[in-house]
Amino acid sequence: MEFGFFQLKFLMNYKSALHNPIFKFISQASKELQVDSYVIGGFVRDLILGRDFKKDIDIVAVGSGIELALKVSELLPKKPKVQVFKTYGTAMLRFEDTEIEFVGARKESYTHDSRNPIVENGTLEDDQNRRDFTINALALSLNESDFGDLLDPFDGLKDIENKILKTPLDPDITYSDDPLRMMRAIRFATQLNFDIEKHSLQSITKNAERIKIISGERIVDELNKILSTSKPSIGFLHLYKTGLLEILLPELTALNQVEEIEGQTHKNNFYHTLEVVDNICPNTDDIWLRWAALLHDIGKAPTKRFNKKQGWTFHGHEYLGGKMVKKIFERLHMPLNQKMKFVQKMVIMSSRPIVLSQDIVTDSAVRRLVFDAGEDVENLMTLCEADITTKNPAKFKKYHKNFEIVRQKIVEVEEKDSVRNFQPPISGEEIMEIFDLKPSREIGILKEAVKEAILEGEIPNEYEAAYQFVLKRAEKLGLKKIN
Ligand code: ATP
Repeated sequence: MEFGFFQLKFLMNYKSALHNPIFKFISQASKELQVDSYVIGGFVRDLILGRDFKKDIDIVAVGSGIELALKVSELLPKKPKVQVFKTYGTAMLRFEDTEIEFVGARKESYTHDSRNPIVENGTLEDDQNRRDFTINALALSLNESDFGDLLDPFDGLKDIENKILKTPLDPDITYSDDPLRMMRAIRFATQLNFDIEKHSLQSITKNAERIKIISGERIVDELNKILSTSKPSIGFLHLYKTGLLEILLPELTALNQVEEIEGQTHKNNFYHTLEVVDNICPNTDDIWLRWAALLHDIGKAPTKRFNKKQGWTFHGHEYLGGKMVKKIFERLHMPLNQKMKFVQKMVIMSSRPIVLSQDIVTDSAVRRLVFDAGEDVENLMTLCEADITTKNPAKFKKYHKNFEIVRQKIVEVEEKDSVRNFQPPISGEEIMEIFDLKPSREIGILKEAVKEAILEGEIPNEYEAAYQFVLKRAEKLGLKKIN
């Protein structure tokens, strides 16, 4: 019999890997209570994968998880507070910077309408059966007699080695019981760069509609985790192929088409969008900027038109896209706060720098860009650079070069005129005083003219220049300076 790397590694027991002193305390508490206990799930999986250790550790007790937690706290020198969740039969305590979750081993059975199972006490095997994936069902013993031994009833170790996600039981049951697991499968596949086993994928496709019983918050949690990886397109392609994306974000799947009229086609904006999302990842960890990349073209499906003169057009797609962002955030129960406004702003402005990068970059265009984008101008540039997906090397080079010029000019313009947080150099009150005016339309006209003159580069953003400009412009309006 031949052993792979992981089998060899785990034929030995895993005592030395459990070097966090908390495991000794749990072992001691288990012994005193005469209750078997195991560390299970993500901690064991990540330990084997050599991933960064998670900040939470799941402990399963074959008995009361709450009692075990209380005993562990008693044994710990600092006697940390135990948070008890009676309804769920779980308890949590903090040790150093780790959260330790305790739960009694349980057996679960589901009804069709809810993802909340009927729960009974069970054995370790029952508990492993209710886990979502074989790689998440791995447990290490914390019992004195076999401390560090791996309990792997579904060959999860082999699945880790083969980089594959499989459900411990029939996937149709696993996914139908708790449809959130479909999102988790796709999320883990993206995070770990694992394949999803064929039957699992078929079953997700079959059960996709059941995602509707899951709350928006939980779905968004998983979408955010997919978007936080270094290659979110893996997850979005799975979501698309299984039919989940059509249910969750139909605005995106609507982009997956290429039409041809009179020999003219337009690009497939769905695959383009996925490329943009992947492109932006090395340049930002900001989840909201990543959302903006995902949604930046959603206005294109409903605004698409063809005419003989211009070919395919998407007039106003940015504004419509901005409105659609709000609807999506509402539908998925995402926060309707500044974060949403930021995503909207990015979507609305998403074509502005691109236009610049295709033409000669003028100072006034850059000044207007900085004025409109304000504090978010760098984020907007990051989004728009990621948006360059042309396969024409000459164009690719030209656009990137122009973006470099734009970035440089942003710095220059900002140094000279500071329009990022624009404050008019001359106030409405001053204008009223100069011409002895009451609040009126003329003041608005003059203030707007000053702003335009600064943005166009006719005058610097300074008081004296603005004052002289106002005097001249006021003459045209028939206004006279008093004394
Ligand atoms: P991460 O922290 O990266 O999300 P994790 O695997 O620790 O990874 P948790 O959500 O903390 O994920 O769950 C801990 C463990 O609980 C999982 O490893 C898995 O065994 C089990 N689990 C979590 N959610 C489910 C679920 N919906 N169905 C079945 N088992 C689950």
